[in-house]
Amino acid sequence: MQRSKKEKALKIVKKLQKEYPNAHIHLNYDTPLQLLLATILAAQCTDAKVNEVTPYLWKAFPTAEAIAQAEPEDLHKILKPTGFFRQKTESIKNVCNTIKKKYDGQVPESLEELTSLPGVGRKTANVVLANAYGQQTIPVDTHVKRVSSRLGLADGANPDKIEKELCRLIPKEKHTLSALVLGEHGRNICKSRRPQCAECVVFDLCDYAQYGRE
Ligand code: SF4
Repeated sequence: MQRSKKEKALKIVKKLQKEYPNAHIHLNYDTPLQLLLATILAAQCTDAKVNEVTPYLWKAFPTAEAIAQAEPEDLHKILKPTGFFRQKTESIKNVCNTIKKKYDGQVPESLEELTSLPGVGRKTANVVLANAYGQQTIPVDTHVKRVSSRLGLADGANPDKIEKELCRLIPKEKHTLSALVLGEHGRNICKSRRPQCAECVVFDLCDYAQYGRE
């Protein structure tokens, strides 16, 4: 009998949870603002590189107000190693300016408010909601997208649709956990170029392994 997709999704999450009991976000942060800005800075950059840079950023500009009022050149110097530093400077200044003016310097706690911040999309908002505010969300980054597609859980290239499908399949209390373990699996085993299928704990549940399709 063909197992239902929900059953399959739950089995995958449970197996991956066992495999990665300490799955966690790889960006360092102490506050919701730090996580929000680190996530913006991680675009087209590694988390490790962002983690090298952010201590200098928080030390020089510890609040949304300080970043909103910073001279762009001073931010450029700090953000340069993360790439696209001019755009990133503009992005974090705009976000901080809105947070300062509209939210009294505090990062808002709803998806609607977060995605209303300039340049903040669902993935970034969900990262903050899940990891800084303890809400159950599925941020769909490149790893979650690739792994869930290979496993046959969610098709397509649109991260919003993938999020919706994963949210439908996986019980709400496991949303954040599922994103973390799928991400961890993508980093460690189900790599972009060469997935290590022979070492994969969800091999028997994977469409790519069974039918050779993503
Ligand atoms: S079997 Fe291969 S493609 Fe499927 S999830 Fe595992 S590593 Fe990825």
